[in-house]
Amino acid sequence: MAKKSITTAQVHGTRALCRVDFNVPLENGVVQDDTRIRAALPTITWLREHGAIVILCSHLGRPKGTVVDDLRLTPVARRLEQLLGSPVTATSDIVGDDARRAVESARAGDVVLLENLRFDPREEADDPAFARELASLADIYVDDAFGAAHRAHASTHAVATLLPAYAGLLMQREIEVLGRLLDAPERPFAAIIGGAKVSDKLSVLRNLTHTIDTLLIGGGMANTFLLSQGIDVGTSLVEDDQITTAKDMLAEAGQHGVTVMLPTDAVVAPSIDADHGRVVDIDQIERNDAIFDVGPATAQAFAEAVTQHKTVFWNGPLGVAERPAFANGTETVARAVASSAGFTVIGGGDSIAAIEALGLADRIDHISTGGGAALEFLEGKQLPGLAVIPEANDDE
Ligand code: ADP
Ligand code: MG
Repeated sequence: MAKKSITTAQVHGTRALCRVDFNVPLENGVVQDDTRIRAALPTITWLREHGAIVILCSHLGRPKGTVVDDLRLTPVARRLEQLLGSPVTATSDIVGDDARRAVESARAGDVVLLENLRFDPREEADDPAFARELASLADIYVDDAFGAAHRAHASTHAVATLLPAYAGLLMQREIEVLGRLLDAPERPFAAIIGGAKVSDKLSVLRNLTHTIDTLLIGGGMANTFLLSQGIDVGTSLVEDDQITTAKDMLAEAGQHGVTVMLPTDAVVAPSIDADHGRVVDIDQIERNDAIFDVGPATAQAFAEAVTQHKTVFWNGPLGVAERPAFANGTETVARAVASSAGFTVIGGGDSIAAIEALGLADRIDHISTGGGAALEFLEGKQLPGLAVIPEANDDE
């Protein structure tokens, strides 16, 4: 499933249109978190060092096809300049006169950043004419925006059919790591799945069942699984329409020889606003209480399970981790994943925020920049932005 890599291309003297994911949080015109910008640096640097003119393009936020001044990419260009230590020309339009002039006057190694792609309604419409205008700025196309690969938009899909198309270094790393989880993980392989809702994660659970040895279920979604096993979860968040599905999932996992661990204790409170919770056994939840975190015995059991696996994938906090009273389960498991000697992968915005808040991000082997795209990939779906990049030749 390897894609044609940019490293196999002759890029010297070419104009490379490089789709990146610079969809970063901004506040008062300042980039609040530059993780995604830094993630694109290896490809940008590789292109510059090999003598390409680098024409970057990205979306930012949801301007819905019109120009929104607060969503201009200028602050991103300023941050990128600091990171690269050289100038970046931010254009005031996407494919208009300003962009054209900037590209025409650029030389090998220069970096141009086109304006927010979603200022043009044709971007999200995967419009062929818009794709042609983008393509006319360049000689080759490089896709390094794994986080946007699940969208068939002009800059992730249509344009790739118009130019010689390659995967960037970040894109390659994401497909390689996530692909390995599905195809050839080192065993035993454990998945820790949490988060609020079963319905968000069901397809991932289903697909991972074919490849994992152990499934640790926590977070709000565990409640529906517990209920499906006849456990009274009080006023906890449950999805009534998912109870049968949850029950079937557990049976399916059993048939595949997957060991499933559900919470055996919980931190409960009458309301999410409570300053602290009480630890109770899972079969002792009172009518007016709700589960907001896994209990310490569960967290400990999950942490020990993590140490016994050679591959660990984690998605979804084990409790309402944004509230200190309910963050212990997530923290215990996060520390176990960080200390694991095995190969560790984390995906999902809230899980990544949790590991970063603990200062443990650099102890994880791969933190996916993918978000929704990573989940869809792990669901086994074809991502339109990936499908359109040619496969690598066998001799590459
Ligand atoms: P990620 O972004 O890592 O994929 P999700 O978005 O699926 O994670 O899940 C995070 C959300 O799940 C958080 O808002 C958190 O408050 C919520 N959550 C976790 N456990 C519970 C629970 N027991 N009850 C209600 N909400 C929960
Ligand atoms: Mg989330």
